[in-house]
Amino acid sequence: MNENDMGKIFLNDLHRQNSILEHLLSDAFLRVLNSGRYILGTEVSEFEKEFATFVGSKYCIGLSNGTDSLELALRSLGIGYKSKVAIVANAGSYSSTAVYACGAIPQYIDVCNDKMTMDPKDLRMNINKETKAVIVTHLYGQMANMPAILEITNKFEIPVIEDCAQAHGAELNKIKAGNWGKMGCFSFYPTKNLGALGDAGCIVTNDFTIQEHLLKLRQYGWSKKYKSDIPCGRNSRLDELQAAFLRGKLPYLTEWNNRRKDIANIYSQRLNKLNNKVICPTNFNQDNVFHLYVMRTNNRDDLAKYLISCGIIVDVHYPIPDHQQTFHKNSFLEVELPVTKKLCKEILSIPCYPELSNDEINFIVSKIVDYFV
Ligand SMILES: *Cc1c(COP(=O)(O)O)cnc(C)c1O
Repeated sequence: MNENDMGKIFLNDLHRQNSILEHLLSDAFLRVLNSGRYILGTEVSEFEKEFATFVGSKYCIGLSNGTDSLELALRSLGIGYKSKVAIVANAGSYSSTAVYACGAIPQYIDVCNDKMTMDPKDLRMNINKETKAVIVTHLYGQMANMPAILEITNKFEIPVIEDCAQAHGAELNKIKAGNWGKMGCFSFYPTKNLGALGDAGCIVTNDFTIQEHLLKLRQYGWSKKYKSDIPCGRNSRLDELQAAFLRGKLPYLTEWNNRRKDIANIYSQRLNKLNNKVICPTNFNQDNVFHLYVMRTNNRDDLAKYLISCGIIVDVHYPIPDHQQTFHKNSFLEVELPVTKKLCKEILSIPCYPELSNDEINFIVSKIVDYFV
């Protein structure tokens, strides 16, 4: 294939998946249209059952988006004004946003150099009597070290919320992401491994009381119509249309995750030959579903510029750690997260989604190799 004919390769290309599924999605749309019911009907309740079964959880509560799911998860645990919540700083500010929405305060924990997820040792060193919850983010599709984290949090009786927005279907020791902590929070933002055609999210849990609390929180604090029982209720319902689309897509998720892994495997096999110039993902087990393929190099900014000039759109997830974002107004100046800080300068996400063609993968690899040799 001629380079000029290829056009651009985007970091995500949502239309590819959704156009392949056009008939299925149109049927879902018509089913909702003709049902005459657009909020909290059977599409939502059926999707909740199907997704709970997929994750292996007892309950699933459909919500408006992933950030709301984190906020409501915190609220369901009673997290409020000035509560402390331990989170990482390299996961795009979503947890920070949810913590602040509750009036709570983040305690930033560093990440491991290999997995780039929460470092259990740093967690152990930084939690204290004020820590009321921990949010563990499974980043880029790879699960955090849950056994080690839970060993610590169980000892101190601190509830764990898993942020699974990048890890739909990942599993460790036959237990899926979302089923390790008190709650698993999901986003179905269109680019996620399971994506709606708009905003959507959910929480899974095995705890009946928490499930009841969340059902109230997502709808004005109502225990039943027009009866408000609890404060801080929200309107954060998953809508029928998005639920219907998600029901259509869920049966493909495992196949899509496998394709992501195959693509990642090709990248790592071929880029590892550049040995000391790049660090590539090496974990191809069930606990990694490659939401993003993130390579590391000291020449990050220059390589990114080169790839974009070749029509390969790349990005950095994420360029500014949460504790250094300006909205804190310097509250975290004293916080040192050396690994987080170092990773921010090295990471680069290259296209990795199921609809990427083998020609495109080869083209991307050849351009990265060209850059280094
Ligand atoms: C996308 C994402 C979220 C937020 O989800 P929204 O639906 O966009 O609110 C939260 N956490 C992580 C790790 C994400 O990737």
